[in-house]
Amino acid sequence: KTSVVLFTSDLRVHDHPPLRAAVARADAVVPLFVRDRAIADTGFAGPNREAFLADCLADLDRRLRERGGRLVVRGGDVVDQVRAVMAETDATELHLSGGVSGYAHARERRLRAALERDGGELLVHDGVITALPPGAVTPAGRDHFAVFTPYHRQWCAQRPRDVLGPPRGVRVPDHVGSEPVPGRDGVEGVSPGLARGGESVGRARWKAWLRDGIDAYGEGGQDDLAGDATSRLSPHLHFGTVSATELVRDARRRQGEGAENFVRQLCWRDFHHQVLAARPAAASRDYRTREDRWRTERTAAEDIRAWQEGRTGYPIVDAAMRQLLHEGWMHNRGRLLTASFLTKTLYVDWRVGARHFRRFLVDGDLADNQLNWQWIAGTGTDSRPNRVLNPVRQGHRYDPSGDYVRRWVPELAEVAGGAVHEPWKLPAAQRARLGYPEPVVDLAEGLARFRRARGIE
Ligand code: FAD
Repeated sequence: KTSVVLFTSDLRVHDHPPLRAAVARADAVVPLFVRDRAIADTGFAGPNREAFLADCLADLDRRLRERGGRLVVRGGDVVDQVRAVMAETDATELHLSGGVSGYAHARERRLRAALERDGGELLVHDGVITALPPGAVTPAGRDHFAVFTPYHRQWCAQRPRDVLGPPRGVRVPDHVGSEPVPGRDGVEGVSPGLARGGESVGRARWKAWLRDGIDAYGEGGQDDLAGDATSRLSPHLHFGTVSATELVRDARRRQGEGAENFVRQLCWRDFHHQVLAARPAAASRDYRTREDRWRTERTAAEDIRAWQEGRTGYPIVDAAMRQLLHEGWMHNRGRLLTASFLTKTLYVDWRVGARHFRRFLVDGDLADNQLNWQWIAGTGTDSRPNRVLNPVRQGHRYDPSGDYVRRWVPELAEVAGGAVHEPWKLPAAQRARLGYPEPVVDLAEGLARFRRARGIE
């Protein structure tokens, strides 16, 4: 008997229930990745994620080869390719991790219908991409939680599934053909400081974080922009090169406040995934409608470009936006304050910002990106929809030394200490020499526009 395992956002051999089940139930297994034309056509796969993905596939192939197997890569329509591989190998079963997006649900439905016609069976494994599957905990009478705290409480009380080791051997039928496993070299437009992908790197990062980072996590250090003391595991979680279930288990074993704080962040990830699974439309429409008449690419083109390029004249905003362009990643505090600046201070549609983030973020994730944007825009699950983060105060508070700004905004490198957050206070002659832009908006005016628009007295 032959089974196919279709890899999606779960590019690992450790703790992979579909792979383990396929190996246990069949004599031969085809580990398959389809470069899905539909995903390429949406433009969702930006160069940073494409390059990281290439690393992940190369590493997955290596890890499968260590176990006697290999990765089969195909391109085109995912359902057509799965059917073709199943026909070529006389496979009767397809194993797949359950996804949360509208697209993932549609893919699952199409695969199920196609396999029913062809006489095959689809086995969907839940709780592979998140620590707990969406829907594992629900409030009475509703299909998802809209408030984090009660979700967190119930989530913590659940026993997650067991963590699985990698399969010992994977036997792939000889005759099944594969496109070459892509490398990142051919991908153009990649951010120069992009991290490397793959399960080997992801697991090493996790082990190092458990050893050296996690204990101090949450003592305020995770908000210190210059300190850069978060795990940077988000791209690995997005591509599934580490397992959220395994991270939760290991962190709980470690114990302590830092580990607890870290597990809470992983719960945030599950929280957003269960919102999107229940409300797939929230990827593009307000979760809670506030009837905002946002400024758009047509009416605020100049402001949007300044924000995207890190030229708003607010150093902390510009530093974070430039980090995004350079690394394909941004610190969480940076994401919060740049998103607040775009949506509240410039009053620009959150979708404009979410699209730019998704284009560059290596961890760009439909659930986490869109719903965090909605949280900041006050159209999502936040209980304080009209809160505005003041970029000057955020700068002094989360980058008190100014080191983060000087790292990313070289025009201000000569300005010492926290003064870097208010360049407009520098002598006019020095300002002219530095060549750093003037603020695109007056903060008080921006705030007044937002309050008017939201009908706040
Ligand atoms: P750590 O602080 O080490 O946290 C560990 C893990 O917890 C993260 O890797 C992540 O998986 C999870 N996590 C932490 N905070 C959140 C959160 N608020 N929501 C969901 N999961 C969280 N995260 C993404 O993974 N992809 C995105 O596309 C994304 N877009 C965002 C957009 C905005 C506007 C904002 C405010 C936040 C966004 N986040 C996103 C959440 C968060 O900023 C990142 O997960 C975090 O900065 C990643 O760095 P880290 O791995 O070092 O995080």
